[in-house]
Amino acid sequence: MRSLDAFAGEKLAALEAKSLRRRLSPTRRHDGAVVERDGKRLISFSCNDYLNLSQHPLVRAAAAEAALNYGAGAAASRLVTGDHPLLSDLEKRLARLKGTEAACVFGSGYLANAGVIPTLVGPGDLVLIDALAHACIWAGAQLSGAKVVKFAHNDPADLERLLIAERSAARHALVATDGVFSMDGDIAPLDVLSDLCQRHDAWLLSDDAHGVGVLAGGRGSGALFPNAEIPLQMGTLSKALGSYGGYVCGSQAVIDLLKTRARTLVYATGLPPASAAAALAALDLIEADPAMTEIPVAKARRFTQRLALPEASSPIVPVILGSAESALAASARLEAQGFLVVAIRPPTVPEGMARLRIAFSAAHDDDDVIRLADAIVALRGGAS
Ligand SMILES: *Cc1c(COP(=O)(O)O)cnc(C)c1O
Repeated sequence: MRSLDAFAGEKLAALEAKSLRRRLSPTRRHDGAVVERDGKRLISFSCNDYLNLSQHPLVRAAAAEAALNYGAGAAASRLVTGDHPLLSDLEKRLARLKGTEAACVFGSGYLANAGVIPTLVGPGDLVLIDALAHACIWAGAQLSGAKVVKFAHNDPADLERLLIAERSAARHALVATDGVFSMDGDIAPLDVLSDLCQRHDAWLLSDDAHGVGVLAGGRGSGALFPNAEIPLQMGTLSKALGSYGGYVCGSQAVIDLLKTRARTLVYATGLPPASAAAALAALDLIEADPAMTEIPVAKARRFTQRLALPEASSPIVPVILGSAESALAASARLEAQGFLVVAIRPPTVPEGMARLRIAFSAAHDDDDVIRLADAIVALRGGAS
């Protein structure tokens, strides 16, 4: 297959020339926020394990025990024999946390969005998506065959304009947004979006991958807007909950339909019991100590205060540098000082918006937060 290798080689060379080639970097995680790469220990500000629960002794023990008792894998789709009883326990807990009738667990957050959206909309329907929403929302929308239209980031006026222009031509309409934006850390105005959706008969899907466990006592970004009606509350077990897997919470009818028709549920192997057990243990810990959920945002605020940036509203703070090269150079300079802050480049963020994306965790010492802030001040001073 010489043409295949030639294609791959040329494509890589073109990406390399634009500083857009990416490389995997084997990383071991240690206690707290410490990771090890190439034999070097670094303090990571790039993990999404906001509460450090992936390392918690009770979460690890729950996963280990489930693997020992029930096996390492689920062995089949949930609709065949892969529906371990732990999954329905987990779904009840998630529905309770989100205040919905029911929930459905998927193999990952990506699979959840890739399955949910095409189950609910198709050709003849309309999907309106925030410009900065996560890649898996776009993937789900593209798979659906519906008309996909982007609205300006966190701009309800633009959404309203598009609903007025496009809604009547479509049978069903779905509006999708991140609750907490993964690369910017800001929060969607879910109350205003919910209002618009009700006025125009559109279904609101909020992806709370970065909100669950860290906002509103752990209930997530939707709970910041008690009057918002969010019929589709999607999220992940893989970030603050320290495990792996995805979910969507909603009404019994919607969840029953997803369990019958969502292709990423029907045609994919069920989540391993160990992942469900770990997520359940994490939810127990959060419920027992909701104050813990406030620590990551408090650390982020310490940082934004020190740098005189707008106050953080989530554990994620972007420091936008512009070009991919400048983001890579800044990341390398921080690494030399013992910090792991991975550069985020297009197409994960828009062209010209490459950045350091800093993720704060309950495992960070205040000292480390201040040292990182000062290192970034020095870096900016050096760059100008
Ligand atoms: C990480 C992420 C996902 C994907 O979740 P996984 O469980 O990692 O597949 C979906 N949406 C957003 C906003 C995310 O940040």
